[in-house]
Amino acid sequence: MFTTTLKSKFNNIIINLYQNNTTHLKKFSTQNLYREKWEAIIGLEIHAQINSKKKLFSTSSTSFNEPVNTNVSVIDAAFPGTIPRLNPKCIDLTVATSLALSGNVQLVSSFDRKHYFYPDLPAGYQITQHYAPISLGGKVTVSPLDGLEYEKDIRIKQIQIEQDTGKSIHDVRPGMALIDLNRAGTGLMEIVTEPDMRTSKEAGLAVRKLQALFRAIGSSDGNMEEGSLRCDVNVSVHEPGTPFGTRCEIKNLNSVKFLMAAVDVEIERQIAELNKGGTVIQETRGYNVATNQTFRLRTKETYTDYRYMPESDLPPLILTKDYLTRIYNSLPELPDDRKRRLMSQYHISLNDVMSLMRENGGVEYFEEVAKDRNSRHVVNWITHELYGLLNIKNIKFDHNPVTTQQLGSIIDSIETDEITAKIGKKVLAQMISGEKRLTPDIIQEKGWKQLTNMDELETICKNIISKNSEQVYQYKQGNKNIYQWLVGQVMRETKSKASPKLVNDILTKYLD
Ligand code: ADP
Ligand code: MG
Repeated sequence: MFTTTLKSKFNNIIINLYQNNTTHLKKFSTQNLYREKWEAIIGLEIHAQINSKKKLFSTSSTSFNEPVNTNVSVIDAAFPGTIPRLNPKCIDLTVATSLALSGNVQLVSSFDRKHYFYPDLPAGYQITQHYAPISLGGKVTVSPLDGLEYEKDIRIKQIQIEQDTGKSIHDVRPGMALIDLNRAGTGLMEIVTEPDMRTSKEAGLAVRKLQALFRAIGSSDGNMEEGSLRCDVNVSVHEPGTPFGTRCEIKNLNSVKFLMAAVDVEIERQIAELNKGGTVIQETRGYNVATNQTFRLRTKETYTDYRYMPESDLPPLILTKDYLTRIYNSLPELPDDRKRRLMSQYHISLNDVMSLMRENGGVEYFEEVAKDRNSRHVVNWITHELYGLLNIKNIKFDHNPVTTQQLGSIIDSIETDEITAKIGKKVLAQMISGEKRLTPDIIQEKGWKQLTNMDELETICKNIISKNSEQVYQYKQGNKNIYQWLVGQVMRETKSKASPKLVNDILTKYLD
């Protein structure tokens, strides 16, 4: 009884840690422990849903949030006699992704059938690329640009195109499995890395890096929570200098944070097993967020023979060098290049660049506002004030109502001393609440223009000084903190509209 309570308390603590504060996750990392004797070996298998409006072999829509089984053609449902027809958009996007990862895109590749029986796979086989995938080799580089202390290439083994399955829904009707085929036949890119990663951090960064690349190219939205990016991670441990150990594959991880936590606890589990003289058996495991433990899903002994065979209804996929050149030349600026360019062109920090890149369209927004303006002021206004207020109002950056002209007008008005930064924030808040006009009109109407009338300001300052003789005395005795307090009094008196520069001039004149 007692232990159960304790245990559930402990679980709650872990859940709270996950929900409230990611920095605590690091405390669970065993990096230092296992580094002493054991080395971890990590490889990734990533499935990214290809960003095409239509499915891989049919013209049905891939859009989500539709009633179940409405985006299903006879091809997706595998009616007898139907013939798949390859969607060229899926090829374009996969080739673009492969080229961006320095993969060797194959001029000839082909499709195969991978057989297994499951209710959400109507044909009884999945069309994939087993014998001749579309791209071989390539790499993802993780480096100081990602916040890592060193640079490292993680080799990619291959990239292949395949179709997704439908979804089995087990928790809606007791005792029944329901099938939704809306997802069946959606195009996926499968990216398999070599076992080149050694820490959960490298693995997490590699996934983030791929995610950013997909988004830059537009080949996938890379959303792990929604399942458009699915990562399986293979983990083994060995003593350096000896052959690699037996690996376990952890499946169904729905965030990078959990992927990293799962890798760490799995490494810990395997080391503990080996240290007590046991063995690691090759198996597929899941990860329980609540207990922060991995658990067995199935062992490889029950592994199916997939009976791969060439897909006889699809000809080989033949590409030309011209086509590859065309796709290569149409690649957008890739994330690492973009980071380097923004830092050098605008003299802003890597942290600033990463904040801008975190939001969809953030960089474009910044570059528009930063034209002919002080780029550091602009980046501060975006990443601190704008992001901050949007966050408070629970508005996504995608729905940011403040136009680049509007934000620019705030910064301009501050620069020309028409308003204080504090008033600038009030103007921004107005804009976020739907104000469509530019700063000059808003401050005109609200009477928020900065007080720059020397006579008026002198009167106010003198008044504050004479009303607070005690504080002025303390100031003269050497308590310099009083100065800011006096400035504060003036600001209060003027509702923050007094020009800080002029107030400063006047106060020093009369005090010293
Ligand atoms: P299979 O042919 O059984 O699918 P692969 O060699 O293709 O195996 O590897 C599948 C995944 O497992 C890859 O991501 C690879 O990096 C990873 N992997 C291979 N060997 C190991 C190992 N010893 N430890 C960890 N991961 C590994
Ligand atoms: Mg595989």
